[in-house]
Amino acid sequence: MASKNKNWEYAPSLESTEHITLKKRYDLFINGKWVKSASNKYFKSINPNDEKVIAEISHANQRDVNRAIEAARNAYTKVWSKMPANERGKYIYRIARLMQERSRELAVIESLDAGKPIRESRDIDIPLACNHFFYYAGWADKLDYAFPNRQISPLGVAGQIIPWNFPILMAAWKIAPALATGNTVVLKPAETTSLSALKLAEIIQDSGLPEGVVNIITGYGDTGAAIVNHPDVNKIAFTGSTGVGKIIQKSIAGSEKKATLELGGKSANIIFDDAPLDQAVEGIVNGIFFNQGHVCCAGSRLFVQEGISEKVIRKLKHRMKSLVVGNPLDKNTDVGAINSKEQLDIINKYIKIGKKEGAEIHQSACSLPSKGYFCPPTIFTNVAQSSVIVQEEIFGPVLTIQTFRTVDEVIQKANNTPYGLAAGVWTDKGSRIFNLTTKLKAGVVWANTYNKFDPSSPFGGYKESGFGREGGLHGLSAYLKLT
Ligand code: NAP
Ligand code: MG
Repeated sequence: MASKNKNWEYAPSLESTEHITLKKRYDLFINGKWVKSASNKYFKSINPNDEKVIAEISHANQRDVNRAIEAARNAYTKVWSKMPANERGKYIYRIARLMQERSRELAVIESLDAGKPIRESRDIDIPLACNHFFYYAGWADKLDYAFPNRQISPLGVAGQIIPWNFPILMAAWKIAPALATGNTVVLKPAETTSLSALKLAEIIQDSGLPEGVVNIITGYGDTGAAIVNHPDVNKIAFTGSTGVGKIIQKSIAGSEKKATLELGGKSANIIFDDAPLDQAVEGIVNGIFFNQGHVCCAGSRLFVQEGISEKVIRKLKHRMKSLVVGNPLDKNTDVGAINSKEQLDIINKYIKIGKKEGAEIHQSACSLPSKGYFCPPTIFTNVAQSSVIVQEEIFGPVLTIQTFRTVDEVIQKANNTPYGLAAGVWTDKGSRIFNLTTKLKAGVVWANTYNKFDPSSPFGGYKESGFGREGGLHGLSAYLKLT
């Protein structure tokens, strides 16, 4: 569909869906085979752009979880933990290469199922997911160099539970380091975005990875909890909301299970008056509007130094006019579909709260498609530090804007949230950047850029944004017993 934006009209440039193959129904991937769920129940995966059903997906119950964990245990004791590390590495490379070969198909499926603009899935999610497998494949036989003078052993069976905002990338973040360190895996994608993980299961099958080393089971509600509570799981790797993270932490308390929890965020993007303003505005847009604000580390709280605030807001509003909201498969689209009806309702609820709190709202003047789940890029000014929309994670294209005068003031305001996942700092002064990076309570601080990722760089949170790191050497150690 062409953009209906009043200022910018583009001819539609739709990515073809002809090169992708999707089954009507997906079963569970357990012990290297596709097996029917014991529940015999299926749920629908919906395309958030047109609300049509893409495929039916199995709902794994307790018996299925038991089967998957048993398969992972068997594969761990009999095959994977005994295999020479360089052989393990070859399998991981093979998965990376097969993913690259099928990257167009994976990108289109991700955009269809998750609502992500094709430009994002094609240029960011899929290449980064491949790079995680390449990166960790390289470490598989070099663990002694990664952790010199330490005794290294894998943990065993890892239960991995991921959210819907970066479906295949989160699967790669979790599976690649687990395999490189000699663990086996049971992974559960989120209810609304299982398809790319199921495609990854096909790739894993094609790679010849020994059966049971990676098991991918789908479901919702109690499926994730059944993995967490299973007594034969040694490690839980969870990415998702802080609420569910807290439930998981309670359920594993007192057990031997190790855990990494990557949770929510309300990250600050801070613009000083000496910053390159046009780049900073692009960084704000990238931080909150691209990918519909479905980013755990989204720069959802903007802090602008007082003297330049009017100018920055004017530039931002101007840039918002040219953002194209629409079909995720259109290459012109900047802001795709909100992942689900439920999430759209949550975002709209917060927009209402913002208005009620007396904040001033400005939304992109674009007409939204008549079908599907869409939300225009939205900014709120005249907000207080105590406003609900400043404190709580919205997980949509909604930005709050506050001003500040001094460095100390902005550090205090930026840190004044239960979260601590990421932050951005825009300034010409290197010393100021170093000052802020040490004082901001955030796992990642970007300087003069935003939302940049690399497999070699650790990622994770402070406070209620979770604990443990993924990526880099930190990501390896989370799957190892080091003595
Ligand atoms: P969510 O509701 O917490 O769900 C995450 C996953 O946990 C899903 O697979 C979900 O399954 C499963 N789950 C639900 N209840 C469970 C339980 N009691 N025990 C075990 N698993 C359970 O989060 P979401 O809405 O999908 O994702 C958005 C959140 O993820 C945001 O808060 C975002 O900030 C966070 N996130 C954090 C990071 C990071 O690196 N820190 C990265 C990305 C996203 P079902 O979907 O089937 O219910
Ligand atoms: Mg879907």
